[in-house]
Amino acid sequence: MDYYSSQISNLIEELARLPGIGSKTAQRLAFHIINMPEEQVNKLSSAMVSAKKNIRYCKSCCTLTDGDICPICASPKRNHKTIMVVENTRDLAAYEKTGKYEGVYHVLHGAISPMLGIGPADIRLKELLLRLQGEVDEVIIATNSSLEGEATAMYISKLVKPAGIRVTRIASGVPVGGDLEYIDEVTLLRALDGRTEL
Ligand code: ZN
Repeated sequence: MDYYSSQISNLIEELARLPGIGSKTAQRLAFHIINMPEEQVNKLSSAMVSAKKNIRYCKSCCTLTDGDICPICASPKRNHKTIMVVENTRDLAAYEKTGKYEGVYHVLHGAISPMLGIGPADIRLKELLLRLQGEVDEVIIATNSSLEGEATAMYISKLVKPAGIRVTRIASGVPVGGDLEYIDEVTLLRALDGRTEL
């Protein structure tokens, strides 16, 4: 990218590192940022820096939050004996948007994938097992219906069932390989209602 000044090239390169941003989009974004009022650019950059600095994993469910315990885990209104296991915070948000789920969550931050070299120790499974030593009636596995999501569901069910805890899997009204976050609320609720024993 010799035809841009080094500062512009640098900005384009950094933006292009982001997921889903190809070099064309990175260029478009870079020029958009350069043309933005300085105040707005400051807001954007400080939002990124402070989110990075202050956001951490909830000590209970491992979702991303800005306190020690996230608002869902801290809420006395939630049923803390039902834990829904999801792959990431975006999936949690998808179920929260339905406003119908009253239990709590556990966020794995990934799924087991032998192909990508992601094993059980690379996701937040240890933390889940620790929680199961408390009072838990049901673990609802809501990992994606991709190969990795299914492998993770089977793995968790094998770990949890011997403890005598009910393990269920959301119905696969969810399209194969579909990310939970892109699925509409009705389908999500139907998948939850139609969950089956593992
Ligand atoms: Zn939490």
